[in-house]
Amino acid sequence: MQGFMRKLCGRPVERSDPYGQAWRLGTIVCFLLYFSGVYGIHRLFEEHIRRRQRRVVLTYHRVRDDSLDSHISVTPKTFDRQLRYLTQRFTLTSVNALLAPPDQVENGRKSFVALTFDDGYLDNFEQAFPLLKKYAVPATIFLVSRWLGKTMFMSRHHIMEMLEHGIEFGSHTLTHPVLSSINSDQAKDEIEGSKKDLERMLRRAVRFFAYPKGKHQDVNPDIIRGVAAAGYEAAFMAENGAIRGDESPYELKRIGIRECPMIVFKLRLSGLLETKPFFLIRQAFGLT
Ligand SMILES: [Zn+2]
Repeated sequence: MQGFMRKLCGRPVERSDPYGQAWRLGTIVCFLLYFSGVYGIHRLFEEHIRRRQRRVVLTYHRVRDDSLDSHISVTPKTFDRQLRYLTQRFTLTSVNALLAPPDQVENGRKSFVALTFDDGYLDNFEQAFPLLKKYAVPATIFLVSRWLGKTMFMSRHHIMEMLEHGIEFGSHTLTHPVLSSINSDQAKDEIEGSKKDLERMLRRAVRFFAYPKGKHQDVNPDIIRGVAAAGYEAAFMAENGAIRGDESPYELKRIGIRECPMIVFKLRLSGLLETKPFFLIRQAFGLT
């Protein structure tokens, strides 16, 4: 059984992986939905009957080959495969264009997907950037401004080179604290200080913010107000879901991506797992 699960989930799930068991269960559910035909019916219904254009922001962290940090990594091979699929099936766009009102965007019937990366790992430059260029896909990277140049993280010259190729940068605070766990003065520094640091370096406005950790318990109304007051136009959580259009621009959901079989990736993009029954199942197993 263990061997079978390893094959199914791609790589072994490590003991350090906090969501390992729940993720394995989710993988089985995705395979059942795919091979039972439920996924296919859902897709046909959404695309040809409801004709709904979804807007989805994906969250990546690391693109790397070894299995450390497997809960926040994809391999370059998997990332390549995911980008190929995304460019065939969706309109890949910047966060900025994705957040524009849908009636201002003309793209036929395809749904929109924007890619984001959190934390500013060096492998974003070394591994992800060549593939983003290969497929001409835009992306937004949320940087922790005081981590720049540290071991494992990108430095200014990596960022400036990516900027020239259309990669956008947002703020992910100065030092990556859980904002709900620090006092309001510290939170203000983290939110405003990183924007100033990055704007000085990039010589352009930093318009978007991503909350460290980013689950509901990691933010509160004061923090959300602080992000708006600092001049950010929108902010992203780590809660899973698509952009609805009627939510606060400072509580936007994304879909977190980690190493997984393509079937799981397709299911996560389809919106099927966000329908009420599956949302309740995911909540019960801690897969929100
Ligand atoms: Zn982060």
